[in-house]
Amino acid sequence: MTEALFIGLDLGGSEVKVGLGDGNGSLLWHSRLDSHGRDGGEAILGALEDATTLAIAQATELGGTIRALGLGTPGVVDHETGRIRYPVANLGGWCGTDLPGFFRDRFGFSAVIENDANAAAWGEYSAGAARGAHSMVMTTVGTGIGGGAVIEGSLLRGANGGAMELGHTLYAAEGRQCHCGLRGCVEAYAGGRSMAEEWGRRAMGRGVVIETRLGGDPELSDLLKAGSAGDPLANEVLDEGARALGRGLVSSLHLINPEILVLGGGILEARPRHKEIAIETLKESILPKALERLTISSAECGNRAGMIGAFSLAAHSFGSQNKGVEPQ
Ligand SMILES: [Zn+2]
Repeated sequence: MTEALFIGLDLGGSEVKVGLGDGNGSLLWHSRLDSHGRDGGEAILGALEDATTLAIAQATELGGTIRALGLGTPGVVDHETGRIRYPVANLGGWCGTDLPGFFRDRFGFSAVIENDANAAAWGEYSAGAARGAHSMVMTTVGTGIGGGAVIEGSLLRGANGGAMELGHTLYAAEGRQCHCGLRGCVEAYAGGRSMAEEWGRRAMGRGVVIETRLGGDPELSDLLKAGSAGDPLANEVLDEGARALGRGLVSSLHLINPEILVLGGGILEARPRHKEIAIETLKESILPKALERLTISSAECGNRAGMIGAFSLAAHSFGSQNKGVEPQ
């Protein structure tokens, strides 16, 4: 009998990561393709189809059988239908498509669709820093702030797939405008895009000239580069963001009381000082009982967490079914 394999897809604005895993969370092969995120829903589906076809060919080479597929995607996912409930900002036209139906019709196998931050949390839970934990909270700190939680072996999804929007929990009443439309969110202070904008505003206010890669508005990569080069204003904004992150995590930890907090994302990987400040501030701001049994760990799956989570969710959802589809 051939080995049962699972495809994991992690869709982002610029690329789709694709991987093959077994039922135990081991990643056997992976690649990445352009996601055509700016070209509309049909182009994105085309990218997902190409990625899946590539994975099927690889499964054939490995002598395995595709049992099911998991997809991590930006947006709020309706778990009854697998459709994206609201349009996604950086993926033009990505809303409402019957994604399980698409994979069933094209390839003949079952698919589980999950929000990308939730998929990343599941990846760290099933194969990373939170392996074997009773409960975990994960945050991914990049241009935005993502959140996910697993409680007693179950992914926390909420009533309509919108649970653990950690970046949009309240940090400062009547505070900075957030990209989500609300004010004072954690992300408006600790998210990379917001920090880069704040850096630009302060530079302008103080008459400081800042260098940007594209010569326009500062981006997160410009801010991180300036910070690592020792720019005082960049580090002022980044340190404030790190403190906001630490304080911003406290409410989630009080609510969920997890065994493990997993910290991941590009900013924390690029800037060790960021993580140190965030953890220090968190410890100063939290109730002692919430810290008592808490372990704070760095993410282990890196930017593959979403893809690993996606195929692991497929294995979790469909792994016990006997029916497989032989690769074409
Ligand atoms: Zn917000």
